Amino acid sequence: MTAQIIDGKAFAADVRAKVATQVARLKEEHGITPGLAVVLVGEDPASQVYVRSKGKQTVEVGMNSYEHRLDADTSEADLLALIDQLNTDPAVHGILVQLPLPGHLNEDLVINAIDPAKDVDGFHISNVGLLGTGQKSMVPCTPLSCLMMLRAHHGSLSGLDAVVIGRSNIVGKPMAQLLLGDSCTVTIAHSRTKNLPDVVRRADIVVAAVGRPEMVPGDWIKEGATVIDVGINRIEKPEGGTRLVGDVDFASASLRAGAITPVPGGVGPMTIACLLANTLTACCRANGLAEPEGLTA
Ligand code: NAD
Repeated sequence: MTAQIIDGKAFAADVRAKVATQVARLKEEHGITPGLAVVLVGEDPASQVYVRSKGKQTVEVGMNSYEHRLDADTSEADLLALIDQLNTDPAVHGILVQLPLPGHLNEDLVINAIDPAKDVDGFHISNVGLLGTGQKSMVPCTPLSCLMMLRAHHGSLSGLDAVVIGRSNIVGKPMAQLLLGDSCTVTIAHSRTKNLPDVVRRADIVVAAVGRPEMVPGDWIKEGATVIDVGINRIEKPEGGTRLVGDVDFASASLRAGAITPVPGGVGPMTIACLLANTLTACCRANGLAEPEGLTA
């Protein structure tokens, strides 16, 4: 079998187009423009690239983008004061604090200072609890991306065996909650899991979120399974230079899987698209309007 490639770029373009249509409608019918505030502390080069890309895509779908760039030595009190100001600003519907923060800042404290209704990353402890208990919440963007692609491919996920490799708060755990919410039988595997190959071999859906280049070989994949590769790893090329690979060995896995996301071009492009979708959802909820269809969990 040669797997169908799940095209994350095309999915992301579709999500952005749906968001842009809804944003235009909000403006026209209600005079409301959704706004996303992104806070960057310090000068981490990767974070700067992400923040620039988020700002650009926010404006492209017709939303307002508010960027707050703070010095690396910004005090916790000053950062919390900014978050407080954004929490009460009616033009701001989504707040994202770019992680990681410099070491002197307490990430948990900062994230939990965001109004949960504006927490478009879905990391606030209230949103984690709401998701865990099956209630309406803001859902972390990367797992939401994976869920959208899985739903589009399978229709119903009910009763499927899903294995999530990785138990991080950002990807693995919320991913497992979402799959459980869609009635999968879910296993969370991690660095201490015994006999990982056999655990993965029974899965109809494999979500790999580990951060180890090509650690899942094709012979771990059940014939016809759907493979969602969240990993983004930069490796050296034999001829010099570097390239990006996932946590799954794409070449061998795509010979057994029914469908698979590539790296790059799979989950990656979807994450910012889902951030925009979450901002739109937050804006609709804040204004008592119906949530956009197909863009939430
Ligand atoms: P993390 O380091 O927080 O968590 C990694 C998890 O993998 C841990 O729970 C650990 O138990 C598990 N693990 C480690 N070694 C293992 C092994 N040998 N076998 C099984 N499990 C093992 O990482 P994260 O933040 O969840 O990110 C995971 C990967 O996803 C990274 O490559 C990251 O770059 C990528 N990522 C991509 C996106 C995106 O596409 N937009 C977003 C977030 C993370």
